[in-house]
Amino acid sequence: MPLFDPQTITVASGHFIGGKLVSDTARLAVLRPSDGQVHTELPVADASTVDAAVQDAWRAWRTSDWARRAPRERARVLRRWADLIEADAPQMAPLEAVCSTRPVRDAMAWDVPFTAEGLRFFAEYADKLGGEVAATRHDHLGLVVAEPYGVVGAITPWNFPLVMVSWKVGAALAAGNAVVLKPSEMTPFSAVRLAQLAIEAGVPPGIFNIVQGDGRTTGDALTRHPLISKMTFTGSTRTGAAIMASCALQGPKPVTLELGGKSPQLVFDDAPDLDRLAGIIAGAITGNAGQVCVAGSRLIVQRGIADALVERIVQRFAALRPGATWDEQATLPPIISAPQAARMQDIVERARSVGAQVRCGGGLFEGGAGGAYFQPTLLQDVSVDNPAVQEEIFGPVLTVQSFDTEEEGLALATHAHYGLAAGVHTADIGRALRCMRGISAGTVWINRYGRSADFVIPTGGYHQSGIGKDLGRQAVEANLRFKSVLVDF
Ligand code: NAD
Repeated sequence: MPLFDPQTITVASGHFIGGKLVSDTARLAVLRPSDGQVHTELPVADASTVDAAVQDAWRAWRTSDWARRAPRERARVLRRWADLIEADAPQMAPLEAVCSTRPVRDAMAWDVPFTAEGLRFFAEYADKLGGEVAATRHDHLGLVVAEPYGVVGAITPWNFPLVMVSWKVGAALAAGNAVVLKPSEMTPFSAVRLAQLAIEAGVPPGIFNIVQGDGRTTGDALTRHPLISKMTFTGSTRTGAAIMASCALQGPKPVTLELGGKSPQLVFDDAPDLDRLAGIIAGAITGNAGQVCVAGSRLIVQRGIADALVERIVQRFAALRPGATWDEQATLPPIISAPQAARMQDIVERARSVGAQVRCGGGLFEGGAGGAYFQPTLLQDVSVDNPAVQEEIFGPVLTVQSFDTEEEGLALATHAHYGLAAGVHTADIGRALRCMRGISAGTVWINRYGRSADFVIPTGGYHQSGIGKDLGRQAVEANLRFKSVLVDF
C-alpha cells in the first residue's frame, strides 16, 4: 500500500524572491528517483535572475529591520517558523520524499521535526553572541561587536534537502543576515515551501530568497555576485574547491564548506555486543542507501573478529528491502540517479577485476520499476589504494580491511585526503581515546555511529572534507563578523 501517490504531489516550481514565487521558463527536468519518471520541470536562474534575487535580498537587509531588531525578536520569528514547519509535516514530508531519496516515513519522523528543532536551536543563539568587552593595554574601553555579513549565499546538496537547507539558512538568519539559497536542482521543492512558511512566520520578504537552477549556471552566478559577502556550501569536495576558488577571485570572501568523506569504522576485538555492532555498521552504510556524507564506508576490523562481524553485517544487508520513498514496506531507498548508480557499479566492477571478493550485492536489484536500487555490497580483500577504498562512492558499498595491532588499525583508518568522520568501537576507554586523538577527522563517534542528534555538537570536516562547521555555536558564529571598537574616555 503506497503511503502517497506521487502523481498527486504538486510542487511550486519557481524562484522565490521578495516573498513571492517567481515563474520563469522551465528548462530542467526534475526526476523522481523512485520510479525514474519526470515529475516536473525547473527554471534555471541565469546571471540576471540571480542578480535580481541578490539585489532584492540586499535591499531587504538594508531597509527591513531584520538585522537591527532585538535578537530576541528574530528568535521569536524563527521559533514561530519552526512551529509552522512541524504543523505542515503532512504536506512537507511527501514534498520532500517525492523527488528525493528520503522515505516519506523518515521525512515525517526525522527530517521535518529535525528541521524545526534545528531552527529552534539557532534561535537560542540569536541573542547570545553579541560580542565582548576587551581589556585593552591602555586606558581605553575595547569592544568586540558581532555583526552580520549582509547577504549570505547558500548552496545545498540533494541527499537531505530540507535539513541541509535549514542548517544553512537557520544559522545565517539567526545571526541577522539575509540569505539567497540555491538548493540542489534535483531536490528543489521543499526549500520553497520552507521559504513560504518563513514569510508566514514573519521573516521580512527578501530576507530569504531562492534561485533555482544547476550549479554551473545559477550556483556559479550566485558565488560570484559582488553583493554576496559570504558563501556557505554543502556538497562534493570538487564543487567546494571550485566555489572557494571563485570566492578567492571575486572577493576574497569567506566560505564555509561541508564536503565529502570516506569515513572509517575502526573495530577492535573487544568491541561489545557484535550483533548490536553489526547493526550500527550496516545502518551507517545503508541509511539513505549510503548517500550520506558521513556514511561509514570503510570497515577496519581486528582480525580475530573479522569473520564473525562480516557474517552478521551480510545478514543485515540481506534483510533490506528496496522500494520507493512512498512504499510502506521498503527499507532501502533508491539511488538519486541512474548515472550515479552506474558510477557505483563501475567502481565495484573495477575492484572485482583486480581481485576484490564481492561478499554480497555488487549491482542493481532486478526490477526497480524505473528507479535505480543498488544492492548493499560488501567488498573484501581490496587493496588500500583501490578506488573502492579511496573514493567517495556515495552508495551502500562497504569495504573491509583487517589489522592486527592498534598502530596498523589507525594507519588504515587514516585517509590521504578526507577527514569527515570516524567510528571507534572498543571496550577499552584508553584505546578509544587514543584512537580519537589519532584519527584526523571532524567527528569521532565512540561505540556508536552517525546522527549527532544533538545540535550543540558542531559538524564539519578536516582536510578535504571541509572548512568550518554547521550546527553548534560555531555555525552561528561563522555567520557573524566582529568589529573592534576602541573608546577613549
Ligand atoms: P555537488 O557538489 O554535485 O552539488 C552540490 C550543490 O552544488 C548543488 O546544488 C549543485 O547544483 C551545486 N553546484 C555544482 N557545481 C557548482 C558550481 N560550479 N558552482 C556553484 N554551485 C555548484 O554535490 P551533490 O551530489 O549534490 O551532494 C553529494 C555530496 O555532498 C557528497 O560529496 C557528500 O559527501 C556531500 N555532502 C556533505 C555533507 C557534509 O556535511 N559534509 C552533507 C551532505 C552532503
